[in-house]
Amino acid sequence: MKHTTLLTPHFTLGEFTRSAYAINHQLDNTPPAEAVANLRALCEHVLEPLRRRFGAIRITSGYRSPAVNSGVGGKPHSQHLRGEAADLFVPSREIGLKMYEFIANTLPYDQLLFEHNRKTGTRWLHVSYRSGDHANRRQCNPHYLAAASRLPGLATWRNIGRTIGL
Ligand SMILES: [Zn+2]
Repeated sequence: MKHTTLLTPHFTLGEFTRSAYAINHQLDNTPPAEAVANLRALCEHVLEPLRRRFGAIRITSGYRSPAVNSGVGGKPHSQHLRGEAADLFVPSREIGLKMYEFIANTLPYDQLLFEHNRKTGTRWLHVSYRSGDHANRRQCNPHYLAAASRLPGLATWRNIGRTIGL
């Protein structure tokens, strides 16, 4: 399967497999077929609807082979290993919070995290989706939803009871 293979109309496989770490360390980051199917489900159920609302989405990390995952400091059972998770670039805290609220309120998801590297100042959203027989746990942090609801011009968060804290 090529990097240019479309998973869904607006996302290519290569967006989820490219990794600076893999290139720098000459590691193969080709996903197995099951991980490709999981990436496609993530695109269909989460990323395409998110894109319809917010415009183009930049994926900073998608699938990670075991070697890449351990190299970048991923958790041993990270959903990135199964192609169930993606990290999304957020241009600002405000837009990140709006995206967070939109996913938590309107989309199916397994886990949703707003992450922040204090050293570099980088922010990203980690979002995962499980297909098949696995129930999506809808794990998110209500703190961020509360913060989103305080942004000017944003609809008040009304579904906080649907979330479970981490
Ligand atoms: Zn992640």
